[in-house]
Amino acid sequence: MSATSHIINHPSFGRLPADRVIIFDTTLRDGEQSPGFSMNLAEKLRMAEALAALGVDVMEAGFPVASRGDFDSVHQIAQHTKGAVICALARSGGAKDIAAAGEALAPAERKRIHNFISTSPLHMKYKLRMEPETVLDLITTGNTAARNLTDDVEWSAEDGSRTEPDFLCRCVEAAIKAGATTINIPDTVGYATPEDMERIFSMLLARVPGADQVIFSAHNHNDLGLGVANTLASVRGGARQIECTINGIGERAGNAALEEIVMALRTRHDQYPFTTGIHTESLLKVSRMLATITSFDVQPNKAIVGRNAFAHESGIHQDGVLKNAATYEIMTPESVGWTRSSLIMGKHSGRAAFRDKLKALGYGDLDDAKLNDAFARFKDLADKKKAVYDEDIVALVMMKCAITSISGLAPSA
Ligand code: MN
Repeated sequence: MSATSHIINHPSFGRLPADRVIIFDTTLRDGEQSPGFSMNLAEKLRMAEALAALGVDVMEAGFPVASRGDFDSVHQIAQHTKGAVICALARSGGAKDIAAAGEALAPAERKRIHNFISTSPLHMKYKLRMEPETVLDLITTGNTAARNLTDDVEWSAEDGSRTEPDFLCRCVEAAIKAGATTINIPDTVGYATPEDMERIFSMLLARVPGADQVIFSAHNHNDLGLGVANTLASVRGGARQIECTINGIGERAGNAALEEIVMALRTRHDQYPFTTGIHTESLLKVSRMLATITSFDVQPNKAIVGRNAFAHESGIHQDGVLKNAATYEIMTPESVGWTRSSLIMGKHSGRAAFRDKLKALGYGDLDDAKLNDAFARFKDLADKKKAVYDEDIVALVMMKCAITSISGLAPSA
């Protein structure tokens, strides 16, 4: 495993420990731009608060030049959301893009401009209709312009995994020379294998001058169901930033899922000796919040946050879990926010039982007004739904957290 690069003086993070992986969440950009997943300003602000409380290092809040709405939401998040670096997307060749990103990000405590341009033969020829030398020039122009607005600049080689290796090295070198501090190599179309991704990062670290002074980043899509595997392989190859989304939402088949990567690193620390800043006990809550906002639930067998992720029905498995949970559970449900509770909630449950249940779920300190609100919502739901699951109740409470901080309500995490 490559023990690279990481002891550098990063403009937003300073000196990071060599085993620290930066979590870059793009739920609000790549995730939000997938069909059916658009969110309004208030919803984006709620998600941004939740992501900051979860402990993401960087959140990509949008693509300011794309629309007035995107500009406003990046601007509002930059103004209100504390704790994470706020990032905005821009095209390397778009002077307007970079200016808009800088303007939208102005109020942020720590800000990053993320500029990108395609580098694969296919994209350069048919999408950009540009010669490779023009693309190289725009990489320099874009990163120089971004660097004039903030010290924290990320550059992405769009379709990087299908880019010719020698040209990719030249592009990365140009980006570093022009001031990029993070270099992202996306598998934009979800075509790569784990072996490809490990090889690409190892090659760049070995060949590109200045590679030891920047952080390499992975951005993997899930078109072949390999998003998380490709991300872990990227880390093996030397990437120390991971781009991902809650519930794996994103273009087409989605991005690598944040909750899966974080728990893979934690559960298999023996093979991936890296740490993140994520408060894993809040994973379920944030997953539910996103599902509630977008009205798209995750499938029951979804890893980590699916309803069945820790459910045991077969007699042999139940027997094993009762004797020792480790027989069939590789991580504890509590470590990602699930609770074990025997109280079944339904339309006959009263306020006292509801209060007890909230306590078990970590919401013991709700004031009476919030409790009454949540209880009224619970009664409505119980009329429509036979069994109200713990995660439904978490969602009911989350809905009421609105734009105000959710961190005050969070279970000790
Ligand atoms: Mn993407």
